[in-house]
Amino acid sequence: MMSLAYFNGNIIGIDDPVIPIDERGHQFGDGVYEVIRFYQGKPFMLKEHLDRLFMSAKAIKLEIGKEQEELEALMLELAGKSGLADADLYVQVTRGVAPRNHLFPKCPASLSITVKPARELSHQVRSEGVHIVLLPDERWQNCYIKSLNLLPNVLAKQEAFEQGCFESVLVRDGMITEGSSTNVFIVKEGKVQTRPLSRYILAGITRLAVKEITGEQGIPFIERAFRPEELLEADEVFLTSTTSEVLAVTAADGRQIGDGQPGPVTRRLYECFQQKIKAM
Ligand code: PMP
Repeated sequence: MMSLAYFNGNIIGIDDPVIPIDERGHQFGDGVYEVIRFYQGKPFMLKEHLDRLFMSAKAIKLEIGKEQEELEALMLELAGKSGLADADLYVQVTRGVAPRNHLFPKCPASLSITVKPARELSHQVRSEGVHIVLLPDERWQNCYIKSLNLLPNVLAKQEAFEQGCFESVLVRDGMITEGSSTNVFIVKEGKVQTRPLSRYILAGITRLAVKEITGEQGIPFIERAFRPEELLEADEVFLTSTTSEVLAVTAADGRQIGDGQPGPVTRRLYECFQQKIKAM
């Protein structure tokens, strides 16, 4: 079992120095990416991730240069070769390697993939929930694209960390958008609420899984934008992402949410999410 990497046709060691200096991902962040979680050797909602990758690429006029099926087969091969049962697979597609110039080059896209042991949250974080901080959403207007340009997200996550928090939750035009690397939900009187899909948020795959679960469980699911005050006054708040799954938030901006414990709806959704993983 080992971490491994792939770059433009070659399987390489995870620490091998392979990215050419003129790689546009490195020079411009000119590319898109995905992260897919493997559980017991099986990818979770792989088709949805691949669909989103191809949608992101199209949105930035990037030709991936492989069919979706071909890329899927490659990811499964690499995950298999790693021997890791529980893994995080990252895939990045960039506009290739060419002398530095903003204009699109006439070269094939670059494809890099890494497979590493899954990063699991500690039992304590899971059972106690996490704290968040509210920050202005300073990102661009196309957050539905899973772009490699993550500088505002990086700065927001670092700010959360420096304030002793797990995540920053972003506010644009007086409304919550999403976290720096998560989607955000509130629960009020048993109803789960999250921002509708638009250009201002990423269409999270875990968000979709949670939406499906609420349908199966008969839990009301409302897609509407909400204000920071509504989050602070919610009965429960939780985050979703591929790596965090369903994660309770127990304080925001230093104020306790609900009774300060992961709430019953969040816990139920987390349990159902685990069942969904086991059933795949
Ligand atoms: N929003 C942002 C900005 C993210 O980076 C992520 C993580 N990729 C998410 C939401 C959650 O998406 P997913 O559930 O597909 O991991």
